[in-house]
Amino acid sequence: MSLLDVDGLTKTFGGLRALDDLSVAVDRGELVGVMGPNGAGKSTFFNCVSGVVTPDAGRVTFDGRDVTGDPPETLAKSGLVRTFQQTRELETMTVRDNVRLAAPDQRGERTLPALLRTSGMQDEERAVRERADDLIAAFELDHLRDEYSGALSGGQRKLLELARVLMLDPDLLLLDEPFAGVNPTLTNDIADRVRGLNDDGMTVVIIEHELETLTDLVDRLVVLQQGSLLVEGDPATVVEDPRVIEAYLGE
Ligand code: ADP
Ligand code: MG
Repeated sequence: MSLLDVDGLTKTFGGLRALDDLSVAVDRGELVGVMGPNGAGKSTFFNCVSGVVTPDAGRVTFDGRDVTGDPPETLAKSGLVRTFQQTRELETMTVRDNVRLAAPDQRGERTLPALLRTSGMQDEERAVRERADDLIAAFELDHLRDEYSGALSGGQRKLLELARVLMLDPDLLLLDEPFAGVNPTLTNDIADRVRGLNDDGMTVVIIEHELETLTDLVDRLVVLQQGSLLVEGDPATVVEDPRVIEAYLGE
């Protein structure tokens, strides 16, 4: 059984069909790339899967359960987490606080006076702080942890965004253009981290606009065009497919 099964997904905005009967399945442990020209429906695909927008038709099954239309917080708790093309850190907060606050379910501890906190809550808080610091170190953001995240470069923000979503300990991680606007060194760095997460068992789906960026990274490529599946398969074969090259012409 697939970890993620998307069946007949359709979404229109006004008269525009952003997704048109799209079916895609992802197996547990896979590292899959989603490509396609601008406007092909890549982000809408993630938006529908992650509950950010509700599809007009079709079904999303995650880990054997129908989760169509479930809100993002519910999906995140069950292990399905995504990043956004535009990163969502709070610019007037430090890197460290941004990562800490991404932790799920802090149940308002911060608002309780210290004396009223149970030792269990304090343990939980300590665990969140440690996990945040571990992730900050793992992503080599240590030297920036007390900086406001508004001061970070585009690439550093992508790393911060990854650290933030990993606080949620996902089973399925959806990354929307994690390499866009990132310099080559940081791109390699992010790619290595994604590969490492996948090696450790996380299922990952990555959206990327450019042809070839993903060919060495992913197990399988899925190419969308006008909201539908154009081609899928082995990355090296897919990027040379005449239908794919044609879809990118005139971009
Ligand atoms: P991609 O990520 O592949 O570039 P998108 O999924 O962002 O494509 O967009 C697919 C199409 O749907 C585009 O034509 C886009 O303008 C349109 N679209 C996406 N989201 C919305 C929205 N919230 N409202 C109106 N149109 C949208
Ligand atoms: Mg997009």
